Amino acid sequence: MSKKQLSLEKFKVLLNHYNDGVFLIEEGCFVFVNSVFASLVNCPAHEIIGQPFSSFVYPDDLDKVVHYYNARLAGEDVPQEYEFRLKNKQGEAVDILINVGVYIDEDGEKTSIGTIKDLSESKRTMRDLARSRSDIESILNNMPDVFYRTDTEGLISLMSPSVTDVLGYEPEEMLGQPLASFYCTPADREKILLELNKDQGKAFQVEACLKHKDGSSRWILTNAYIRKDFDGNAIGVEGIARDITERKAVEQRLLKFARYDDLTQIYNRRVFYTEAEKQIEIAHRYHRPAAVLMLDLDNFKQVNDRYGHHSGDEVLKHFIRICKDSVRQTDFLGRTGGEEFAVFSPETDLEDALLLAERINEHTSASSLVVDAKTIQYTVSIGVAILVKTTDNIDVLLSNADKALYEAKAAGRNCVRAYQ
Ligand code: GH3
Ligand code: MG
Ligand code: MG
Repeated sequence: MSKKQLSLEKFKVLLNHYNDGVFLIEEGCFVFVNSVFASLVNCPAHEIIGQPFSSFVYPDDLDKVVHYYNARLAGEDVPQEYEFRLKNKQGEAVDILINVGVYIDEDGEKTSIGTIKDLSESKRTMRDLARSRSDIESILNNMPDVFYRTDTEGLISLMSPSVTDVLGYEPEEMLGQPLASFYCTPADREKILLELNKDQGKAFQVEACLKHKDGSSRWILTNAYIRKDFDGNAIGVEGIARDITERKAVEQRLLKFARYDDLTQIYNRRVFYTEAEKQIEIAHRYHRPAAVLMLDLDNFKQVNDRYGHHSGDEVLKHFIRICKDSVRQTDFLGRTGGEEFAVFSPETDLEDALLLAERINEHTSASSLVVDAKTIQYTVSIGVAILVKTTDNIDVLLSNADKALYEAKAAGRNCVRAYQ
């Protein structure tokens, strides 16, 4: 074995330890392949040597590869590095990246020399990535809930398409905008931030009101958490929000139903009591005055008898409008009986309470309403009581006002009396 042959053998061993495939092609046929190349096409090296390279190129890519091969040998400028598919012994495609050049010896013999990198793994990873990305996209695109992300500045960085159904905006319109600008009130956003800033960094089932593009408001129920990078630094917030506007509307209707009188839309008896109790407590604590008015329509039975129950209902609503026009914003009304009402008036002494009662009484007797082409006039009697003893509660106050009301009725109705 000559020195030169020995070094060639050594060279071949070296090439067989190389990570990439290596090949030599002369006159269109392989004259050398290393073991990596052989395993890439799943064929022993000695079966490859002597074969035309074209028999190891996947048919779909053959035109391109042959064209590059011929052009390169002709000295044309073709890419040295490009991707194509080899064909293994079983006829299957193998994604590879080739890097090839031409060596011309002193006799003008041309040898194509190149390396081949296996791309199957990275292609597979890319395909898997693309598939899982498309899975995620399909989930995002089809779920009714809204998935969103913000950066550390609170600017929206991702918004799922379902947001259009909930808020009327296209996701693109919202990207880069502060999420805060879509809340109905700053308090709605703060509620969520408060939860996020607790040690868990999570907001669970928080309700908030958001602004729809058309100006209306939408209720959402959201779960959100702080996103962190590998080092544990906060990089933004991620959350899922569900539109609960309809549920909220039902809830609010129920709540209203439970708190307000159906006909007149003022507090029912129970709520009037609780609200009054709260106010009385405040009044006692700060030694402030407070008053209660008991108002009962006069001879209302006759109104019903004369004009009918429906007209009677209209009278009740008419009377409540008069009351509302007469009271202050901090005063509140309740329906304590059929045609019997109460007004609670915080920060009001007897003198002012009597003025208010007189005002309501006078407005009532001076006005009239027309129902079914019939003009109806009616009057009201009012009893007034104020907080006196520190033990006075709403029961005492109402009972005292009721006594005064009784006196007003006894005095001939359509008048005001104060509890002495
Ligand atoms: P007084 O001056 O002594 O208060 O006489 P009155 O007729 O107003 O008192 P009474 O308690 O005898 O009658 C109250 C009437 O109010 C009887 C009832 O049918 C009527 N009423 C109670 N609730 C409603 C209601 O929601 N709608 C209508 N239209 N009438 C009602
Ligand atoms: Mg009455
Ligand atoms: Mg009555």
